[in-house]
Amino acid sequence: MYRAQVKAVTLPAAQWPEEFCSPGRFAEACKACPDYGRIWSCPPGVPAAREAFAPYERVHIVGVKVIYDEAARAAAVTPERTEELRRAAYGEAKAVLRESLLELEKVLPGSWSVAAGRCELCSRCSRADGEPCRRPERMRLSFSGFGFDLGRVAEELLGMPLLWAAEGLPEYHVAVAALLERGAQPEDGLELEQKYIVADTQPWDQFQDEVMGVLRRMGCTVERQGDVRQRDVYYDTADDALLRGGCSLRMRTAGEAALLTWKGKPAERQGGLFARREEELPVFDGDLRGERVRTFLRSCLAELPGTGPEMLKRCAEVENHRRLVRVADGGGVYELAFDEVAYTGPAGGHPCRERQMELEHKAGGSEGLARLAAALQSALPGLVCAQGSKYQRARTLLG
Ligand code: SF4
Repeated sequence: MYRAQVKAVTLPAAQWPEEFCSPGRFAEACKACPDYGRIWSCPPGVPAAREAFAPYERVHIVGVKVIYDEAARAAAVTPERTEELRRAAYGEAKAVLRESLLELEKVLPGSWSVAAGRCELCSRCSRADGEPCRRPERMRLSFSGFGFDLGRVAEELLGMPLLWAAEGLPEYHVAVAALLERGAQPEDGLELEQKYIVADTQPWDQFQDEVMGVLRRMGCTVERQGDVRQRDVYYDTADDALLRGGCSLRMRTAGEAALLTWKGKPAERQGGLFARREEELPVFDGDLRGERVRTFLRSCLAELPGTGPEMLKRCAEVENHRRLVRVADGGGVYELAFDEVAYTGPAGGHPCRERQMELEHKAGGSEGLARLAAALQSALPGLVCAQGSKYQRARTLLG
């Protein structure tokens, strides 16, 4: 009935939305779709691609070309029969693609897939009845729902121009999905970074130029990577077991997509340098109740005996405007982040604000981190090493 051709290309994750995503251009077409607001994988509520994909390093875009044989095309004589044949071939290929990417997510820690079209896991989506998604651990957001130009992606990246037929089946259909992959985690999953509190005594842009100037004079390559807005909710137990244990659990949301991040006990700490285990799980709609999320939480909380997922409650909210800069010193690659942070307690109220700077080792040798940190400290004496995570800062400042 059909045969399939598969092609995959890999791009830097930041380049993908930059070059191929124009949500404004497709907004009206999306609203005209009968699925609009009726399926959880589709708008409204799909996050901005640039923010949602910021934690990822590369994206594998996968195209499956479903080529119909002559018998199938000849049998597509009515709209009903055409739809039946399309579902049996293209629908099946989409399901195989979805399951393959979900399997890959299991072997690539922290990866996250984007689906080829709307979610079809249930015969009727619960969103149409105003209910939460029934299978958030398997539902993945729709590729075109993010506002990607599917026609350009298929033609320019995959060499598979999309085809339509006014009647019957075209020669082929193309399903396009993606798998976002995080970069290699340095030091076998350990986060290694230097954090600072920055005094509010000079214009923020001027301070950033000074920092980048110091790094350039040290021979580093320094590239601005753009701004992101982050909204984080931190959780803890009623007796602050995470805070006391030096751990944190953060839900970072962008629209209805979210990333749950566990930061374990500091494994090493010297003059503000932190090394600790970081685990991440992409989740949907910020819900901690799903079995997949609970399994993740149980494994993280094993570091703190006597705790469990059911004991967690919201403790603080952090809004951050982050400016990202990539720094390379020949041996290693680092992420420099300039943060304007607002902390709010669980009851809301007036936020506490501060500026921070982080220099985090991302790839290659990490030996240069201490050298760069020392150079910044001596060139910018107003820097104060931050002795704690954003969660600890939130709890300190909020009292
Ligand atoms: S899993 Fe079911 S409820 Fe969730 S988005 Fe898909 S169809 Fe809707």
